[in-house]
Amino acid sequence: MNLKDSVTRQKDYLIKLRRDFHRHPEASWQETRTSKRIKTELNAAGLDFKEYAGTGVVATITGSKNVPDGKKLSTVALRADMDALAVTELRESDFKSENEGLMHACGHDGHTAMLLTAARILNSLRAEFYGTIKLIFQPAEEMVEGAAQLVAEGAVEDVDALLGIHLWSDLETGQINVEPGPRMASGDYVLVDFIGKGGHGSQPHQTIDPIPAAAAFALESQAVISREIDPLDPVVFTLGEIKSGSRFNIIPSRAHLEGTLRCFNEITRTAASRAIERYANQLAKSFRLDVKAEVKQGTPPTSNDPEIADLAASSAADVVGQVNLTKLAARTGSEDLAYYLKEVPGCLAFVGAGFADPKQNYPHHHPLFQINEASLLIGTELYLRFALDYLDK
Ligand SMILES: [Zn+2]
Ligand SMILES: [Zn+2]
Repeated sequence: MNLKDSVTRQKDYLIKLRRDFHRHPEASWQETRTSKRIKTELNAAGLDFKEYAGTGVVATITGSKNVPDGKKLSTVALRADMDALAVTELRESDFKSENEGLMHACGHDGHTAMLLTAARILNSLRAEFYGTIKLIFQPAEEMVEGAAQLVAEGAVEDVDALLGIHLWSDLETGQINVEPGPRMASGDYVLVDFIGKGGHGSQPHQTIDPIPAAAAFALESQAVISREIDPLDPVVFTLGEIKSGSRFNIIPSRAHLEGTLRCFNEITRTAASRAIERYANQLAKSFRLDVKAEVKQGTPPTSNDPEIADLAASSAADVVGQVNLTKLAARTGSEDLAYYLKEVPGCLAFVGAGFADPKQNYPHHHPLFQINEASLLIGTELYLRFALDYLDK
C-alpha cells in the first residue's frame, strides 16, 4: 500500500475539514460543534466510537488481516486535541474565526482534521492490518485537563502504545522531531501565604509584617533552587502574582504569592517542590510569621518512551526521509499528553508546520499564528505509518 498516495487522495477532504474547524473554534470543554462534526465524519465512514469526557470521542478500528504465527495482537492509540484558545484572530482569510474572541492558535484544528483523515484511510485498509487502532479526539488540552479525564474514564486501559502529534510552527514544514526522553515540562502551582499581624506603618514593631518575607521569598527562592538542583537539569520557577497591602501607610496582615514550577523529570520535580515549601516555612519562622506553602501538582512532565520514540522516528523517516528528522530542545511549556504517557508507553512528535520564509511564522497562541497546510499531509501520514508499524512490529 502506498500511504503517501492514499493521503494525497484525501487532500481536499483534509484541508476542507481543517478550515471548517478553524472557522469554528471552541473553548476548552465547550467543543460541542467540533465533537458533533467528528461524530458525523466517523458515522459517514461507518466507524464505531464512544464518547468520553463530554465532548471527547474515541473511535476504534480493528484490522481484519490474519494474524501471522508468533505475532501478538495489540492496540495502538493516536491522539488529537480539539480545543481552541481565547485569542482574537488578526489574520484575514476565507476561513478566519467566526467565533468572537476564539481562535485555533495552536494548530489543534489541524490535529483533529489529520486524525479524521487517518481514520478514513485506516478504515479502507482494514484488510491490510491486524490488531486495533484507537483514535482519540480529546477536549480541553489547553487547560491541561482533557487527557486526565479520558484516562480516568478508562479510554486507554487497553492501549499498548500511544502517539500524539503537535504541529509546530518553529519547525519548517517537511521536518519532524521525535526523540526519546523529556519533551515538555511539568506545570505545577506554587501557593504561598505569609500571615502576620497588620498595623500602622509608623509602628512596625507592633506588627508582624509579611512584606519583607514575601520580598525575600521572591528573590531568594531562585538561589535555593540554583543551589539544590543539578545545573544541567533545567527548572523554571516563576512567581506571577504577589498580592499584599491596601494603602501606603498600613502594614498588611497577609502576603499572597502564586507561581509556576516547571521541571523535566519526577525526581527534580519532587526535590524542587520540597525545597520551595521548606524555604517558605523556614523564612516565615525567621520573620515570626505563620505560613501556608504548597506546591500543588499540575501536569506531569512529558517524556517520550525510548522504544516507542525510536519506532516513531523510523515511521517518521519513511514519511519525510531520515535527513529531515530534526533535533529540537525540550520545551518548558506543558502538554497534557503526559497523563496518557504515565499509563501507556508513548511519545509526542513535533511535525513541522512552519513556512520557509520566517516572516510568515508566529509562535503558538499568537493572534497571527498560522500553519503551512502542507504539514497536514505529513502529520496524517505519520499517524498512519506509526499505527501500522506498531501493530506489525
Ligand atoms: Zn496551545
Ligand atoms: Zn497545542
